[in-house]
Amino acid sequence: MRFFSILFCIFLFSNLYADEINLFTTRHYESDLELYKKFERETGIKVNVVSGKSKPLEKRIHEEGNSCIGDLFFIADAGRLYSAQEKGLFQKIKSETLEKLIPNQFRSSHWFGITKRARIIYYNPEKTSINEIKNLNYENLSEKKFKNTIAIRQSNNVYNQSLIASIIENNGVEYTEKWLKQFVNNFSRQPQGNDRAQILSVAANESKFAIANTYYYALMLSGKKGNDQKLAAKKVKPFFPNQNNRGTHMNISGIGVLKHSPNKDNALKFIEFLLTPEAQKHMVNNSYEYPMIETVKPSTLIEEMGLSFKQDNATKVSSYGKWQKLAFKLMKKAGWN
Ligand code: FE
Repeated sequence: MRFFSILFCIFLFSNLYADEINLFTTRHYESDLELYKKFERETGIKVNVVSGKSKPLEKRIHEEGNSCIGDLFFIADAGRLYSAQEKGLFQKIKSETLEKLIPNQFRSSHWFGITKRARIIYYNPEKTSINEIKNLNYENLSEKKFKNTIAIRQSNNVYNQSLIASIIENNGVEYTEKWLKQFVNNFSRQPQGNDRAQILSVAANESKFAIANTYYYALMLSGKKGNDQKLAAKKVKPFFPNQNNRGTHMNISGIGVLKHSPNKDNALKFIEFLLTPEAQKHMVNNSYEYPMIETVKPSTLIEEMGLSFKQDNATKVSSYGKWQKLAFKLMKKAGWN
C-alpha cells in the first residue's frame, strides 16, 4: 500500500513539475503534430495539444479564467487573433527576437504571425486573357462589366470578412458600403461551398473569377484532394491583385501567450521554435502557406504560382479585426448571404 502511495506521489510530482506546455489550437494539420514531437525531442518540453474550433476554445479560455491550464492559443485569421486580444485572453509579450523575425504588420503587442496566406483571384486562361485583367485590383471587382462573374463563399466566412475589412481600412466605410452593393451584384451564383468549391466553379466555366486562399489551390494541385480536383486546378490560373498599389491581401496563422499561462517561459521557447527555418519549412511544405521568415522558401507548388508578387505591406493585419464586425454587417446589408 505504502509502495503504491509513494508511486502515486511520484506520478503527481512528475506531472506537476515536468516541463510542458498546453497548446490550444484551431489548426487541423496532422503534420503540426509531427512538428510538436520534434520540439519535444529538442527541448524536453512536452506539448499537450487541445484542438478545436476557435469559438468554443475562446469560450473555454474565457470562462476558466485564471484556472485555465492553457499556455498558448494558435489560430488562423488575424481578425480572430484581434478578437482574442480584445477579450483579454492574451498577455502582452515583449520579445526582441520575435520582433526581429516578424515584420511589424504581421504581429501585435499580444500575438505573433507564424505563417502567411494570400486571398487571391483565379481565372480560366482559355476564357479570360491575362491582358484583360493584368492591372486588376480587388476594388475593380465591383465594376458593371463583371456582372455574374464572381464565385465566392458566404459572408459568414472569416477570410471574406478580413478581405472586406481590408477594403474598409484602405478606402473607408462609405466607399466600401457602396462598393459592396455592386460587388454582390457581380456574383455568378448564390455564395456556397468552401474555398476549393469556388475554384471548381471557374474550372467548370460556371464563373469567370473565383476568390480563394492560396493554400487551397496548392492543396488541389497536390492531388491530396483527388485527381478530379487536381485536373480542375490545372485548368485555372492564380492572379495576384493590387500589384500597382498596396499589394495583395495577406492574412496569417498566429499565436499568443494566454493571460494565465502557467508555463510562460516554455511557451515563448515554443513560439521561437515555430519561427526557426526548420519549423517554418516543415509547416509550409505541409500546409502550403507562405513562410513568415525570409530565409525559407514556400513549397514548390506555391512557388510555381509565382513568388515575385507584391504582398500588401501597408495594411496592418490587426486592422482586419478592427473592422471585421462592421464588414460582416455591411456584407449582409448588401445582400451577401
Ligand atoms: Fe483555411
